[in-house]
Amino acid sequence: SDDLFDTIVSLSKQRGFIVQSSEIYGGLSATYDYGPMGVELKRNVKEKWWQSMVYQNDDIVGLDASIMMHPKTWDASGHTEAFNDPLIDDKASGNRYRADELIENYIRALREEGEEAHAEAVRERLVEALNAGEEMNDALHAIIMDEEIPAPESGAFDWTDVRQFNLMFETEMGPVDGQTVFLRPETAQGIFVNFHNAREPARLHVPFGVAQIGKAFRNEIVARQFVFRMREFEQMEMQYFVKPGTELDWYEQWKERRMKWHESLGIDPSNLRFHEHDQLSHYANAAVDIQYDFPIGWKELEGIHSRTDYDLSRHEEYSGKKMSYYDPWEEERYTPYVVETSTGLDRTLFMVLCDAYYEEEVKGDTRSVLQFHPEVAPVRAGIFPLTDKEGLPDIAREIEDDLNQHFNVRYDDRGSMGKRYRRQDEAGTPFCITVDFDTLDDQTVTVRDRDTMEQDRVAIDQLATYIFDQTAN
Ligand code: ATP
Repeated sequence: SDDLFDTIVSLSKQRGFIVQSSEIYGGLSATYDYGPMGVELKRNVKEKWWQSMVYQNDDIVGLDASIMMHPKTWDASGHTEAFNDPLIDDKASGNRYRADELIENYIRALREEGEEAHAEAVRERLVEALNAGEEMNDALHAIIMDEEIPAPESGAFDWTDVRQFNLMFETEMGPVDGQTVFLRPETAQGIFVNFHNAREPARLHVPFGVAQIGKAFRNEIVARQFVFRMREFEQMEMQYFVKPGTELDWYEQWKERRMKWHESLGIDPSNLRFHEHDQLSHYANAAVDIQYDFPIGWKELEGIHSRTDYDLSRHEEYSGKKMSYYDPWEEERYTPYVVETSTGLDRTLFMVLCDAYYEEEVKGDTRSVLQFHPEVAPVRAGIFPLTDKEGLPDIAREIEDDLNQHFNVRYDDRGSMGKRYRRQDEAGTPFCITVDFDTLDDQTVTVRDRDTMEQDRVAIDQLATYIFDQTAN
């Protein structure tokens, strides 16, 4: 699966999905740009999330809060004090590592070598260390030293102490004597501070939710996992506000609904699983990750957290504003509990690319296909005139003008039909429409299915309906 990782990275660049940012200057680490295909895939995934959250639930509304927030926000949320990762340097090479990840990789290597008992002993020690809180740095350092874990690149064993490193990006706002502000490390706080501003105009009552898609920034220590771990990334988050005591029921519901959503992207369910946390944040009373079997192993894709009233209470304390809710039917006032679902958009795209990648032998040739779900595919249909004779291109252009009212299509008249099909297979286009000489007689065209390669004859005026029907199947 190192191979699959490299394949996905290189096809992402070649086919216009994802490239490293500022590549001509040697690149900026852990930041990425979405190309012509990637931007479409990303928009479609966002749209599907937004539909499933905001349009399909009349108790959820959307929000778009700013990236920079009042600095007190981060005191209240706990990020100034505790949004840290444990950092360790290899003295020999000067390379930096996340101490917990170093140990995690070591455990995985032990397992692969069949050293199951040893791996489990180290894992238990790590869990105890993480749960011990204060002595975490020392505990991580002790494990690395006792186990003599070598630096992955230099192979040497010469470590610094473990230090805590805050992941928030800091900048100055205003021209003179600027105020220090942070780029948000998560979108959630924009929702909490707008609790009243979202609820009141929408006339919502508990239980209700607020959904948001937007950029978040984290000064991550390690930066070599493609779009899995970025320093600038996008989150899709929904905070659902509930009556205290009902939160675990809602938590179970959202767990199931979110898993179904990932499956609705066409992901093979056997590549998805729930992963319970070894350790709960002090404010959470339940937390689970949805993991995907990435080429770098089973890793977190989405977190579902029952966060109690921690966030609203803290903002009440730090802002001095009431963050409670009055229930007019029960005639009682309380601070709602929060069940949150938090997904990384870029990680979702990485998953979609890995899951869609497929190669097969067809008549001695390799056919390379991206089997995207038709709803998220960057191009829904390719449109080809068989030749440039007898007005076939004009008919194809008319079809293009009609279908591009509904979804993204691509006209292509270059090269043989075989080449045109191959280009669309590589882009993951689910349908290819060909205008041929029969079209002149009966106003029908050929529609070829990407996965089965079977062809149907469809009337031109039925094309949009046909494609919508096939997409829904
Ligand atoms: P990890 O343990 O992998 O660092 P996390 O537990 O810190 O992730 P959360 O704070 O729960 O992540 O953020 C919610 C989601 O945001 C994650 O499930 C992930 O999909 C996404 N995410 C978090 N950090 C990054 C990042 N650096 N790059 C891309 N996506 C990220």
